[in-house]
Amino acid sequence: MQTHVFTRRGRYLEIAADTYTEAYEAVAVRDSEPWSWTYMGPRKCPIRTQLCYYDPRNPNNSLSDYDPEDRPSPRSPGCGCDNCFYGRDGIAVLAIDLQTALEGLMQDWERVIGAPIPDGHEVKVALSKLQQSV
Ligand SMILES: [Zn+2]
Repeated sequence: MQTHVFTRRGRYLEIAADTYTEAYEAVAVRDSEPWSWTYMGPRKCPIRTQLCYYDPRNPNNSLSDYDPEDRPSPRSPGCGCDNCFYGRDGIAVLAIDLQTALEGLMQDWERVIGAPIPDGHEVKVALSKLQQSV
């Protein structure tokens, strides 16, 4: 049954979203020194600020420090930016990938079932959790 597949996938993605949140909060606690970007805590610090400093999706990216033709590539091997060095970039990328996957699932649901996902469904709950922090 399609619904069963959606439910199992939604449950998996919700667990992944929770795992992400726990990993992110663990990094935020570990890196809670006053000089850290994560000092404000996970709820006030958008996940996009945890991406590599050279990723244009990071609102605090440092691309403007470089001429366009000399700009470093995001997360290049051995990138020394703080977010790559401390592992924040990896979980930020995971969260954004999860958000994209959940949005795709919701579109698939509407196409296959012919109606929006009901409030309280696991896919919707998981996406809501991610949207609060991304
Ligand atoms: Zn980096």
